[in-house]
Amino acid sequence: MNDFVDEARSRVAHLLRMANTTDDRVRARIIEYADTTPEPPVMSRAGIVTTGCAQCLRTAWRQQDAEGPVWVCASCGHVEGVTVNCPHCKVAMTPPPLGAPDRWQCPRCPRVAATGESAQDIEERERQRLAAVAALDAAMALRAGD
Ligand SMILES: [Zn+2]
Ligand SMILES: [Zn+2]
Repeated sequence: MNDFVDEARSRVAHLLRMANTTDDRVRARIIEYADTTPEPPVMSRAGIVTTGCAQCLRTAWRQQDAEGPVWVCASCGHVEGVTVNCPHCKVAMTPPPLGAPDRWQCPRCPRVAATGESAQDIEERERQRLAAVAALDAAMALRAGD
């Protein structure tokens, strides 16, 4: 048995453990999902993030897939791509690369976000970034005046 098979098996095992269900239909759906999607790392480095499932409203867990982050519902097995929208531009942010920290980047403006952050969190970070840039500009202007 090679590493690839080991890895694939542990991924299914991991998803099933997270799903924590004995419902054969749910288990079959999870196994099918694991079998039909490319090989991702089992856990993202960003740690555990959850949201409400769009279908059954129970807890869905974030998993990192080769295509980007996905929500996997622990109860019904529903799988859905994770999206983060820029509160300023109202467009979908670009997901973090595979294996990278949880940092979404807006394609139109400098705003960044972590999964599940509120618009206020994102705007507050941008405000702090602009304040830091302004402070840096002021410091450089002072030095230029010497
Ligand atoms: Zn669900
Ligand atoms: Zn933006």
